[in-house]
Amino acid sequence: MPLTLATQAPGEPEIFASLQGEGPSAGRPVAFLRLSRCNLACQWCDTAYTWHFEGDNRPHRDDTTFDRKANQLMLSEDEVAQRIAALGQDRLVVTGGEPLLQAGPLAKLLDLLPDIAVEIETNGTVAAPPRLDVRIDQYNVSPKLAHSGNPADLALLPERLDAYATDPRTFFKFVIAQPDDVDEVLALAERYRFRPGHVFLMPEGTDSATIRQREAWLAPLCLEHGWRMSDRLHIHLYGDTRGT
Ligand code: SF4
Repeated sequence: MPLTLATQAPGEPEIFASLQGEGPSAGRPVAFLRLSRCNLACQWCDTAYTWHFEGDNRPHRDDTTFDRKANQLMLSEDEVAQRIAALGQDRLVVTGGEPLLQAGPLAKLLDLLPDIAVEIETNGTVAAPPRLDVRIDQYNVSPKLAHSGNPADLALLPERLDAYATDPRTFFKFVIAQPDDVDEVLALAERYRFRPGHVFLMPEGTDSATIRQREAWLAPLCLEHGWRMSDRLHIHLYGDTRGT
């Protein structure tokens, strides 16, 4: 079964080399693979072109829907592996959308890239099957809080959160739009006993000014609770653009 990828431009798969912009690997040169489709619908999602296709009436703050044909591309695992290998990086970040919705073809893809380290960026609602899980070096799990607009019974699944919280490969990254959002993180951290040093708070924002303004009040909250703060390096460097 082929993989369904997001596109940088119609017909051009979103496979590229860049610096990881967020979380524990921020600043590292990596290859990126962005897969299409998501099982959630965050109202502030900055990659809505992976799921908010024409005819989808779920709310999104930009009120934009995307042409599916122009924003999705099916490619074989062989073709994707060749394109990733050509980037010459020793680490791959698989992102989306929700990449674990394509666990089967993703596992086949990674069989073709045996020497590359792998980070998965997931919303934390889907488990990787063993054949894929064995290839993952790092899970960047971003559970979605109430301000995302997703119902908690879809976005915060106790069994999944417990499994990720007990896996030493997991780093949690919470998108924070206002100071009150941190109360939800506190409740989750207590319930699932997150590992010290494995929790990041990251400001919601798709422009440098918004990110910096929110980091000003986020930094003291990180200090108070012993959490790490994640910037969004790629936004400062390239703006809110595809393929970066
Ligand atoms: Fe977008 Fe991620 Fe939310 Fe899916 S889970 S809608 S990709 S922010």
